[in-house]
Amino acid sequence: MLVTMRVGATRQEIKGVVAAIRRMGLTPNVIPGALRVAIGITGNRGPVPREQLEVLPGVADLVPVTKPYKLVSRETKPEDTIVKVGGVRFGGSGFVVIAGPCAVESRASALAVARAVKAAGATVFRGGAYKPRTSPYSFQGLGRKGLDILRAVREETGLPVVTEAVDPESLEQVARHADMIQIGARNMQNYSLLRLAGQSRRPVLLKRGFSATAEEFLMAAEYILAEGNYQVVLCERGVRSFADYTRATLDISLVPAARAISHLPVIVDPSHAAGRRDMVPALSRAALAAGAHGLIVEVHQDPDRALSDGAQSLSYEAFDQLMATLRRIAAATDIALATPGPAPRVRKNRM
Ligand code: PEP
Ligand code: MN
Repeated sequence: MLVTMRVGATRQEIKGVVAAIRRMGLTPNVIPGALRVAIGITGNRGPVPREQLEVLPGVADLVPVTKPYKLVSRETKPEDTIVKVGGVRFGGSGFVVIAGPCAVESRASALAVARAVKAAGATVFRGGAYKPRTSPYSFQGLGRKGLDILRAVREETGLPVVTEAVDPESLEQVARHADMIQIGARNMQNYSLLRLAGQSRRPVLLKRGFSATAEEFLMAAEYILAEGNYQVVLCERGVRSFADYTRATLDISLVPAARAISHLPVIVDPSHAAGRRDMVPALSRAALAAGAHGLIVEVHQDPDRALSDGAQSLSYEAFDQLMATLRRIAAATDIALATPGPAPRVRKNRM
């Protein structure tokens, strides 16, 4: 159930509704809107006693939310959510390109890639410090040291950084040192980790699990929002199918589907979807044309020698060319390609 407040409802009236919902043993979720405040009610197993709420001062309407996901739904919040990462804004009519290596390998290489992708037009830097690898014998990432390198990258280039958290310990570290927490495909249904990401108040990049339906994906996002963190960007990164010429199958239709169902921004990861660098530009163009709010692309200074995911990593030249093509498509379709914003401030960890 969603309570929509009248335009201009006072703080006191909003507080009154919140208190009434709490007295019913339910959870109020205050959702600020462009025009008016809405209050989503979660935690109910049966119908919400509407007669007790509709009479409260400031209440305009009570709307039943029919979907299993409540807070991520456009029924709850009709206008697009803008997710702010440093000075960069995801959502609306903009298009943001995140780029960087699969893993942070060394300070020198991370800085070199960051400078190259920034020069080409990327506005957020990616790089894994904690890597969830399929094999326990593969490179697992530099861990804490990788986070220090990411901070150095932000200080030197001004690019905000996104990096993956794989468990509660790494999540606390990532929330402290990075601008955005990535929850990877393998952890999309790790509900305790999703809750912690929700409590951290950092923006979250949530990747779709390999075999998650759209509903399961949105329910995973719901876990984060239910903790009060609305700063979530969805990421389609390919799902398992019978196609055997790519690492995964990019479900491009998830982009318009998610945009229709949810107010959250949705971006595409063409690198993990394809698993091979020759297909990354085509999938990137498709994502932009399909209405995605951005991309996350793997770029490496020497892809054939990368410690992880080299086969799908673009060289500097290939990334530069891709950005030039995206700029042309964006210009022709009235999409605003993000340009570098002010250097991000490091906020205090509020976990
Ligand atoms: C990654 O971004 O490097 C990664 C591991 O992605 P995913 O979780 O989508 O496999
Ligand atoms: Mn990778």
